Amino acid sequence: MTSTTTDLTGWTHTYSGKVRDLYAPDDSDAGRAIVAEHGDVVLVVASDRVSAYDNVLSPGVPDKGVVLTQLSLWWFSQLADIVPNHVVSTDVPEPVAGRAMICRRLAMFPVECVARGYLTGSGLAEYRVDGTVTGIELPAGLVDGSRLPEPIFTPATKAELGDHDENVPFSTVAATIGDEPAATLRDLTLRVYARAEAIARERGVILADTKLEFGTDPVTGEVTLGDEVLTPDSSRFWPADEWQPGRAQASFDKQFVRDWLTSAASGWDRASDVPPPELPADVVERTRARYLEAYERLTGEPLPL
Ligand code: ATP
Ligand code: MG
Repeated sequence: MTSTTTDLTGWTHTYSGKVRDLYAPDDSDAGRAIVAEHGDVVLVVASDRVSAYDNVLSPGVPDKGVVLTQLSLWWFSQLADIVPNHVVSTDVPEPVAGRAMICRRLAMFPVECVARGYLTGSGLAEYRVDGTVTGIELPAGLVDGSRLPEPIFTPATKAELGDHDENVPFSTVAATIGDEPAATLRDLTLRVYARAEAIARERGVILADTKLEFGTDPVTGEVTLGDEVLTPDSSRFWPADEWQPGRAQASFDKQFVRDWLTSAASGWDRASDVPPPELPADVVERTRARYLEAYERLTGEPLPL
């Protein structure tokens, strides 16, 4: 499912990000019934779209949206004693069953809350320039995949559609949303990372890094975990038994797609303005297998499809 215009009784499409489509209750009797039952909610639908380097790729990966939603729901419950989450109900319209959640509408903080326990990706790129990541000084001599002395909070600003997210120092977040909310986001992000890292490790998976999004629940006033959590789209998952710092790691996440895109095989130049090429069928199939494997390894169950 990659279309953004599914007709859902009682709901009207309001927004599409790169991967998710948001709906709000409409003005019909069915829409009013949703509001009467749940209050101010949004329907968050995860499509099968794949994005990499901030481009939406084509075609989608079958069942990816179901993996994202089911894995997020599983993690939300693992984390419920640390932070409230936006989930209200999974009783959603049939056409989006399994891939959607009815959620409290949050006032989202414009911050991508990233925790890193290992160095790779944009963190590694920054470190190679001046030994820091978002202003946090790290020891000398770290390489791709190194475990950090302790997990760090490395926020990024949320870019508009089509723009790239940008790593920023904590002080920029504090200046944008206030000292106290910024400290709360950092604290919650590191606590979620610590819990999730421990759970993943028990299952032979390294959680190298992850990105969270929080908002304020207008009803409770509480900082609440929104969006997706700890999925292969928002996180780097590495098989622990293959971890070897100093090279790119094997992974159960989107890295496979990124690697294909930046390989000679795709013929794509990331620095150009040219859109990425179509994903070949075998890249789609192997990406799908990785997403299913991530779900299965972490939860211990095959995805209920
Ligand atoms: P962008 O926000 O730039 O479109 P994206 O491409 O990552 O980023 P998606 O993840 O596809 O977007 O779409 C999800 C959108 O829904 C995000 O903007 C996210 O912040 C927002 N969102 C998630 N949960 C909630 C919520 N409970 N209330 C309001 N907005 C939410
Ligand atoms: Mg997103």
